[in-house]
Amino acid sequence: MNLAKIEELARQLIIEIGEDPKREGLKDTPKRVAKSFERIFGGYLKDPKEILTTFDGENYDEMIICKNIDFYSTCEHHMQPFFGQAWIGYIPNKKIVGISKLPRILDIFSRRLQNQERITTQVADTLQELLSPIGVGVVLEAEHLCMKCRGVEKQNTLMTTSAFRGTFKKKAKTRYEFLKLIK
Ligand code: ZN
Repeated sequence: MNLAKIEELARQLIIEIGEDPKREGLKDTPKRVAKSFERIFGGYLKDPKEILTTFDGENYDEMIICKNIDFYSTCEHHMQPFFGQAWIGYIPNKKIVGISKLPRILDIFSRRLQNQERITTQVADTLQELLSPIGVGVVLEAEHLCMKCRGVEKQNTLMTTSAFRGTFKKKAKTRYEFLKLIK
């Protein structure tokens, strides 16, 4: 990511919307935008394979769930933020993962230009691939600024997406247990 280039593009954008990039409040805005992009789109520079260290599960064979994980992303259609919470669960197959790694995987995929459906399936597929668990369940709930400040202008709408793999997909009972535990 070339921060100097992003800074210049942000300055151009300020001019194009009819503002004066030299006025007091906007003077350092392009620099701040570039700096914030480093974080907001930092997911492109990271690979979930490199952070996912696994441990011996010591025969633990029930559901493990990380709940109420805040996430922040940017919609690829309008470049407007969407953000909310995620619930990620799995049933281990001998291997478990450090619980903080679940939010970190979510961060890697959400800090890109995205849609909510894709983040949900990417998190589920990555866990299925790297951890080979008995099953995985991922639920995301988010509010989309592109729906609030433009378009249909609905202020209280939430969008929910889910992805299930393995036994979460095959067995309704397992899926219900997960959905009950995340309530
Ligand atoms: Zn959008």
